[in-house]
Amino acid sequence: MTTERYLKYRKEEIMEVKNLYESVMTFASQGLFYRTGRIMGARIARICDKDMGHMLRMLIDEGWATDIRFEGNKMNVKDSIEAFENNGTDEPTCHMLRGALTEIYAAATGKKAYCHEVECMSTGSDRCLFEFDEEVL
Ligand SMILES: [Zn+2]
Repeated sequence: MTTERYLKYRKEEIMEVKNLYESVMTFASQGLFYRTGRIMGARIARICDKDMGHMLRMLIDEGWATDIRFEGNKMNVKDSIEAFENNGTDEPTCHMLRGALTEIYAAATGKKAYCHEVECMSTGSDRCLFEFDEEVL
């Protein structure tokens, strides 16, 4: 019998892991975190049968954020697990979430889109805001 198993990372541990990866491989680590998020987003899409509301609730239940609202081609996210206030960056930091949302958007809409994080709590915004651009691909 196979039992589903998983690990949990605490927010502080995610920050340490990200800092470690960036110290070794600089910006390339962002692409790997994005790809990691896509793997998790694809799992969520399978489990939730591509239902947008169900997928976003699962992200919240798993601890990715405290609230996610989908409006038009945007996702408005509160308290991303990957956002760290006052960490001195001027770049968005939610690369895994961006990957997960990319898969979830594609599953729900049937359209592939490039996902940009245009606002991030790590850079001083009161939310993280993701935009989907179907024209880029
Ligand atoms: Zn963010």
